[in-house]
Amino acid sequence: MTPSLSRRLAAALLAFGVAITPARAQLPSLGDGSEMSTAAERKLGERIARELYRDPDYIDDPVLVEYVQGIWQPLMAAARARGELTPELDERFAWQVLLGKDRSINAFALPGGWLGLHLGLVSVTATRDELASVLAHELSHVTQRHISRLVTNQNQQAPLMLAAMILGALAASKNSHAAAAIGTGAQALAAQQQLNFSRDMEREADRIGLGVMSAAGFEPQGFVAMFEKLQQAARLNDNGNYPYLRTHPMTSERAADMQSRQQLSGRGPLQPTLEHALAAGRARVISNPGVDALRAMVTEADAGSFAALPRVRQAGVLYAATFAAARLREPAVVARLQPRLDAATAGDAAAQRLARLLAAEIAMAQGDAARALRTIDTESRRRPELLLAAQAQVQTGRAADAAQRLQTWVATQPRDAAAWQQLSAAHAAQGQPLRAVRAEAEARVAQLDYTAALDRFKAAQELARKGGGDHIEASIVDTRAREVESLLREQALER
Ligand SMILES: [Zn+2]
Repeated sequence: MTPSLSRRLAAALLAFGVAITPARAQLPSLGDGSEMSTAAERKLGERIARELYRDPDYIDDPVLVEYVQGIWQPLMAAARARGELTPELDERFAWQVLLGKDRSINAFALPGGWLGLHLGLVSVTATRDELASVLAHELSHVTQRHISRLVTNQNQQAPLMLAAMILGALAASKNSHAAAAIGTGAQALAAQQQLNFSRDMEREADRIGLGVMSAAGFEPQGFVAMFEKLQQAARLNDNGNYPYLRTHPMTSERAADMQSRQQLSGRGPLQPTLEHALAAGRARVISNPGVDALRAMVTEADAGSFAALPRVRQAGVLYAATFAAARLREPAVVARLQPRLDAATAGDAAAQRLARLLAAEIAMAQGDAARALRTIDTESRRRPELLLAAQAQVQTGRAADAAQRLQTWVATQPRDAAAWQQLSAAHAAQGQPLRAVRAEAEARVAQLDYTAALDRFKAAQELARKGGGDHIEASIVDTRAREVESLLREQALER
């Protein structure tokens, strides 16, 4: 969370703080009242997610989103199969992992099944099992309804206040100095203390998370390895870079639990994959955009110690170095590193695909869309290829191809804001402004920004009135505008 977001929230608190309606009047409660209802929790989560989508640190990197999904979906399936994830929760909650480009080591569960994952955490994991352990732990906080208990135990505040409190706590956990500097630090930190899970909840999330990740086919040692990493950071007192440690203290009980489980598991050492090394390298570049950090990554590939690294590490270093050189706009260095990356990934289909995607991305950044299209599989139905190819097609006069493929995609993935945004560009390039504006509106809906969406739908209606000629599209726009208006009215009532 950035200071600007905290400031917006502080303003929101001031603006609405005096007009709070009694929370219980608006929040339908289930059963004994010890938990927030799933519907209320989902709505609370949407308020928070809406702000996170607008945070400059939020990132939809198609490659990393897909990589994380490749871990997240098997965890969800295992939680379903084990009965941890009930059909009701499965349907009612969002189950979305939002990535943040922050370099700090953090992951968190939010109300309503939204989760946050900082790329800093991804970049320090050595295996996908380590990353799976963190996600399984956070998933278990949600399935065990820890959040609803916490929030309901705390207070009976209105959703808007609760959302602001949670966002404030997130901002403080991310950067306590920035939060303190703008004057919300003290309250936010206090809120964070109140919103921390209890030790029992942490141990439960460890225990259930471990079961879920093992059932999903990940190695339980990933849990132990991640735990050791965090413990080591705790010993070094490196809390600044590890906000995860502040919410997940390495207590002696947790450590003892983990050690006994480690003895039980008794399998061989973890096998890091090339694909994971590349994904972690990508996370490292995106979360460290400074020139010095990027230069250091390039240097690592040419250092004398490089040859002694295991092959997997070498591939990760080369991926990061190539990507970093591209970000530094040093084409000669990129050209020198790329063949080395290709050689390092030879024989591994998953890693070669990531190397090709990177090459295409670099070609696009260098303004060579035709080369990008030659580099990747443009017929692939995977999201990173689809989005990259569509962008390149629009730039090479093939907007109709791009629009057709994107249209098919959003028909089944209506919440994909990036796809809608690209579809908008494809329609615009074809001279179809009505469709372009409507797609833009849908992109805003996908990120829960109904005010901006309605603004776009109204602009589309205006275009239609001026004689767009596209009657079917115009009637879709009318229907969608009404739907979004009613969502906005609902939202206003929830305050
Ligand atoms: Zn936890």
